Amino acid sequence: MPDKIVVAGVSVDTRHWIGGERVASAEMFTDHSPIDGKPIGEISRGTPTEAAAAVAAAKAAFPGWAATSRAERARILHAVADGVEKRLEELAIVETTDNGALLRSHRRGVMPRVAHNFRFFADWLLTLGHEDFETRGHTNHVSWDPAGPCVLITPWNAPLMLATWKVAPALAAGNTVVLKPAEWSPLTASLLADIAAEAGLPAGVLNVVQGYGSEIGDALTAHPDVRRISFTGSVPTARRIAASAAANLTPLSLELGGKSPLLVFADADLDRAVDLAVEQYDNAGQVCLAATRFLVEESVAQEFTRRFVEKATALVQGDPRDEGTDIGPTIHPRQLEKIDGFVQRALAAGARAVIGGHRRDGRYYAPTLLTDVAQDAEIVQEEVFGPVLTLQTFATEDEAVRLADDTRFGLAATLVTGDPERAERVSARLVAGTVWVNCFFVRDLQAPFGGSRHSGVGREGGTWSFDFYCDLRNTVTAPTGWTNHG
Ligand code: NAD
Repeated sequence: MPDKIVVAGVSVDTRHWIGGERVASAEMFTDHSPIDGKPIGEISRGTPTEAAAAVAAAKAAFPGWAATSRAERARILHAVADGVEKRLEELAIVETTDNGALLRSHRRGVMPRVAHNFRFFADWLLTLGHEDFETRGHTNHVSWDPAGPCVLITPWNAPLMLATWKVAPALAAGNTVVLKPAEWSPLTASLLADIAAEAGLPAGVLNVVQGYGSEIGDALTAHPDVRRISFTGSVPTARRIAASAAANLTPLSLELGGKSPLLVFADADLDRAVDLAVEQYDNAGQVCLAATRFLVEESVAQEFTRRFVEKATALVQGDPRDEGTDIGPTIHPRQLEKIDGFVQRALAAGARAVIGGHRRDGRYYAPTLLTDVAQDAEIVQEEVFGPVLTLQTFATEDEAVRLADDTRFGLAATLVTGDPERAERVSARLVAGTVWVNCFFVRDLQAPFGGSRHSGVGREGGTWSFDFYCDLRNTVTAPTGWTNHG
């Protein structure tokens, strides 16, 4: 098998990246493009042996990287960002080929954000203060110490963006990393390894292992030398990882699924509400934050639906490389099956498809809106992770909040209203890591990000990231030598 493949004109190494070297596995797995379902190439399929080698490399590199000054770590992370910007076009086309999300989004939004992830956390590191305060004449000195090797496990829906949202703060904090990208979209992680090496990141500081989570996951997450595990993905996998990490009490950050509501009140600007509603089909609905449950006040529901249908049916579905495409394919035949299964069961249970409700050719699923759904129905309670939205109505603010909060998730909520007092009142009552008022997807890296309930454990972003990736230490010093005054 070749060690390198050419993807849309870009050379990508198919081997793992361990301790500053490319390492091949005996077995391979086939990576396919969602655009046409064709094989892209054969990728090294990691085993517990490569997982252990990667953790060992991260452990060996840790003392050197942890002792590297903050300024030098920040300089190297900025150099990584420079490398991302230099290869932005290559990263964008490889990502689109690998996961099917829109090329124009990768070019203009996602890949610039990848570079920003490195710049932001490099700069934030330099602002982290050493907090000092006094207790009865004693000095408390709080410092942010690197924790050790971190295992970072990421999904396929925004591969490089979500990986670097973890890699950048972990490295900035002085940790070393083993990154395990999703098996359905492993390519840009391999390019990141090249970019990091070119930027001067020392060998072993960033390691990348590829393969199936079910085959190498436990070897990474149960490893006693791993000091942090940060995972983005599904709830069932999170449970397995948490169980595996329990053996060593390894601290976990979990960014999981959602079933977020979009609340539209009668006092809302309906055009704005419809614009925000249509955005929920982005990335073929494969977005954890997507507001997939429309909750619309009865008096405007009919008009909202009319305007939504007009706009949604004008969206162009097709090849994500085309500038004019609005909705691309779903990632994998298994994902398509899952999506269609949810929809067909909902229809069988009495739901009505206002639009969509069926597959299209290849891996494409028609943008779907379902009404006549009960609050306890599977389609309202479970994450579909596809272009499938539901619409329910409410009569009062209390009912809106009750419906919005009545799932096991708590990732995000969007509300559209012309009344600022209502916005304040309702957002304070919603269980959600992020509440957007009259907007959607505005995300600042310094804001805390994460989910409540089954949507996750912990928050990342700004200082919260360093809180997770650092061991905080408080050193208490007596005014003059030894004291027994506690
Ligand atoms: P997944 O849980 O199937 O896989 C995620 C990653 O976990 C992959 O890299 C996979 O190989 C790995 N994995 C699988 N089994 C493992 C094991 N036993 N041990 C260790 N690793 C293992 O999720 P997915 O289908 O790739 O992603 C979709 C899910 O991710 C959705 O639920 C979505 O909502 C969620 N998501 C959440 C956020 C967020 O920030 N909250 C962002 C994006 C996606």
